[in-house]
Amino acid sequence: MYNTVLVAVDLSEDSKKVIKTAADLAGESSKLHLVHVVEPVAAAYSMDIYAVNVSELQQEAIKFAEQKLEKIGQELAIEPDRVHTLLGAPAPEIRNLANELGVDAIVIGSHGHSGWKILLGSTAIKVLHGSTCDVMTVHVGKDD
Ligand code: AMP
Repeated sequence: MYNTVLVAVDLSEDSKKVIKTAADLAGESSKLHLVHVVEPVAAAYSMDIYAVNVSELQQEAIKFAEQKLEKIGQELAIEPDRVHTLLGAPAPEIRNLANELGVDAIVIGSHGHSGWKILLGSTAIKVLHGSTCDVMTVHVGKDD
């Protein structure tokens, strides 16, 4: 059904379910892309009193995420150029990449928040708003 599918993974245990659903949806002839977005380390921590080197910390976080995502990609036999580790705010980065790649669908996990938690928003809802392709949510985690 879909030629190209972008799977957003947060690298948690939930990612397995999201990827499995995307792989089933994509089928054998479709191209699967993986994306993980590393969020910027808060500038507040760069204050001297904390004695933290933010840029080093950021590089470490990116390296860690790259390695973890590469491993997932290898396990699924996804070519390295279809495995994307980005830096920024997850939702807009996922949407922008989906546009750049011209994917047919984005597959993303959703905790199905109810009540006041809806107001806080979730990555899935933020991705959905403004997306120009299909967005499929995979229910992950516990109901709340
Ligand atoms: P959340 O609602 O933020 O708990 O995230 C739900 C889903 O959004 C996850 O299962 C992932 O599919 C996706 N997601 C969350 N954070 C990221 C991230 N940093 N990079 C890529 N995808 C993410």
